[in-house]
Amino acid sequence: MITKTGAFRDTECTCECGNKHELYGGIGYRTVRCDAHSDRNGGGYYIHVVRCKQCDALSEFVDK
Ligand SMILES: [Zn+2]
Repeated sequence: MITKTGAFRDTECTCECGNKHELYGGIGYRTVRCDAHSDRNGGGYYIHVVRCKQCDALSEFVDK
């Protein structure tokens, strides 16, 4: 089950549990899934699913 926690959206990739990306002193997270979706005009977006290494929460977010 994917919980859309809103984690990892800020520049330090902060999770709700306080964990951050390794670059910012946290223990980071693992990418569970990364799906690319293209539109037909050369654009598109990515859907990332990441799992926090600290609290094990799954978070889904979209990159454009
Ligand atoms: Zn966490």
